[in-house]
Amino acid sequence: MTSVHSLGFPRIGHKRELKKALESFWSKEIDEKELQSRAAQLRDRHWKIQQTCGMDLIPVGDFSLYDHMLDMSCTLGAIPPRYGFSGSQVGLDTFFAMARGSSTQPAMEMTKWFDTNYHFIVPEFHENMTFSLSSERLFDQVKEAQALGIKAKPVLVGPITYLWLGKEKDLNAEAHHEAQHHHDDSACHGHGAPVGNACFDRLTLLPKVLPVYAEILERLAAMGVDWVQMDEPALALDLPAEWRKALESAYQTLSKGKSPKILLATYFDSVADHAEILKALPVAGLHLDLRRAPQQLDTFLKNYPAEKVLSLGVVDGRNVWRADLDAGLKLLEPAHQQLGERLWVAPSCSLLHTPVDLDQENELDAELKSWLAFSVQKLDEVAILGRALNAGVDGVAQELATARAAVHSRKTSPRIHNPAVAQRLEGLGQDDGQRKSPFPAREAAQRARFKLPAFPTTSIGSFPQTPEIRKARLQNRKGELSDTDYQKAMEAEIALVVKEQERLGIDVPVHGEPERNDMVEYFGEQLAGFAFTRHGWVQSYGSRYVKPPLIFGDVSRPTPMTVAWSQYAQSLTQRPMKGMLTGPVTILQWSFVRDDQPRERTALQIALAIRDEVKDLIDAGIGIIQIDEPAYREGLPLKRKDWDHYLNWASRAFRISAQIAPDDVQIHTHMCYSEFNDILPAIAAMDADVITIETSRSQMELLDAFATFNYPNEIGPGVYDIHSPRVPSVEEMVGLMEKAVKVVPAERLWINPDCGLKTRKWAEVTPALENMVEAAKQVRAKH
Ligand code: GLN
Ligand code: ZN
Repeated sequence: MTSVHSLGFPRIGHKRELKKALESFWSKEIDEKELQSRAAQLRDRHWKIQQTCGMDLIPVGDFSLYDHMLDMSCTLGAIPPRYGFSGSQVGLDTFFAMARGSSTQPAMEMTKWFDTNYHFIVPEFHENMTFSLSSERLFDQVKEAQALGIKAKPVLVGPITYLWLGKEKDLNAEAHHEAQHHHDDSACHGHGAPVGNACFDRLTLLPKVLPVYAEILERLAAMGVDWVQMDEPALALDLPAEWRKALESAYQTLSKGKSPKILLATYFDSVADHAEILKALPVAGLHLDLRRAPQQLDTFLKNYPAEKVLSLGVVDGRNVWRADLDAGLKLLEPAHQQLGERLWVAPSCSLLHTPVDLDQENELDAELKSWLAFSVQKLDEVAILGRALNAGVDGVAQELATARAAVHSRKTSPRIHNPAVAQRLEGLGQDDGQRKSPFPAREAAQRARFKLPAFPTTSIGSFPQTPEIRKARLQNRKGELSDTDYQKAMEAEIALVVKEQERLGIDVPVHGEPERNDMVEYFGEQLAGFAFTRHGWVQSYGSRYVKPPLIFGDVSRPTPMTVAWSQYAQSLTQRPMKGMLTGPVTILQWSFVRDDQPRERTALQIALAIRDEVKDLIDAGIGIIQIDEPAYREGLPLKRKDWDHYLNWASRAFRISAQIAPDDVQIHTHMCYSEFNDILPAIAAMDADVITIETSRSQMELLDAFATFNYPNEIGPGVYDIHSPRVPSVEEMVGLMEKAVKVVPAERLWINPDCGLKTRKWAEVTPALENMVEAAKQVRAKH
């Protein structure tokens, strides 16, 4: 019999119980015992759901109170010395100090898990560190599952992925705070590797970490565990040769000890490059992601070793659409013929990245709902596929027919296919979206129109989202505050923000975005082709969850989305009010995207909708428009060979949205991160007149890359870190601008914060901006 299994289940709970439990624990409303008991209830419930769905093997250890990489660090005893851990078992205090910081120590660094929006805690490595089994957590959970009669398949992050995702740290640098500002130029690493601040190779730690893995495996075997899942998603990246070799030697070493059978799980992209190594690896099974990379199956089926299990992920663990079960079966059948019961069926990856249960969505219309599947439904789909393979399709004829009908309805629904949108896209043809004139001509036209001083000051868009603003929005949603009153409240806020900027002397003011709950949701709610769920939460990090919009159909913009607000703000000032939009790539990236057409096509549709908004803003007299693209880099594919294709359509989508602007309209964009080096040409290709970026935390070092590349347009390097409540001094900001002037021609520089101010308090924002405007004056006087 073909087994069906899942690689991981969402941990947050149907009603976000985990968030509530954690936050109550952090605010000391409940104690550790209560927290652990609620966590155990969630695990219990999730295991039973998976059992009821018919899963033969159920993941254990995928549950985490914060993050599974952090759990792995604790299990391996990889605790940075600054947390003062000395015992034999990492306690919750240390665990949460690492995750969130403590009164004496900052938290560990966090970064995105591959190309998902899930963030993990980055392991820190130092040269002479040792590893030792320092947590009973996994074994306790296995016992817990076994006691409930659950067929547990413990899940571990494999040693190669664990080491690959960590960073080398210099313990001496940690002592004085230089650590954060020291940016190593990758001299010690192969490309694509995370960059630490110490020059040793973390791969040298492998021989030290393997004995702990071996010990874990031995203990699991002693507990009667049959299979263990080792997640090695790093294999989907371009791994350097020495890491590929290390993969072989690591699993050779582990195969020598007592161990349950190992299922090595890969996901998020093809691992065909390593097919020969993987087939020969001394593990009992492999898992492949056939949603992202169906073409890799043939490579693996060819001479697939007898005895080895092949688990195929055919149900999408990264998206919310109901599976095309016929297509899934077609993919599975040849493998089934060849492998028989050595074929397993699963979702493509852990379900951590999809919402929990569609059954809870009682506000979605029936048609839309019939197109969707969340985690629970995805396991049902996996089970149906398993039954079809084991007992023939007749036994599941009804289920297959329902799925087929949903696929058909989605293919043909007029709600999805809008001929006008299709026509518009065709009309674009090969048009690459260039503005009318090249940048120098535009710059001249804009200077003549706006007559801004040298080093103009501006901000990134949002001003503090005060409790009053959030309360008004909530009341409006609940019907307790009328639309008119809500609008009045927001206008009052805009008036305040504009007045404050006038008083401060900001050259290019903004309206402050009080009316926006979220920079993507705000637009999604007004665009056709988008839908919203009530409970479609997925974990972003720790107790922070996001509820991405669903893009289900062709995107268009029925009516203006921001014009009235911007127009109102402009009516209050003589200065040029900057209009504020979210860009097509960011809207795409932070939504669940339709899978029935390439992402780039959806991006172009959004680009055209944004272009309509740009046009209406211009017609309403707005002369400066910012199109934010903070997720531009995040959309990069995992493998370098796919980068060009992505960057081509991403920059084109941006240009298409901005193209309509005449020469004397100034288009800004904003990106808030500091890893630009390898994508600068693609950023230049967006051809925004002004780009504002985050630089203050890297002490303007980032600008060197812009200078070396000869970035042609204007730049606003952030002069203060909005992530911190600290008010930066005038001298500090002048100092940063002095650095900037050395590498970028003075006439092309702007002065602004690193990012939007919405999470800050007015008490921090006002003095910080006062200092920023004063800094601008001093810089102007000198240059
Ligand atoms: N305009 C947005 C703001 O200021 C930009 C936010 C972002 O870059 N993430 O809030
Ligand atoms: Zn930003």
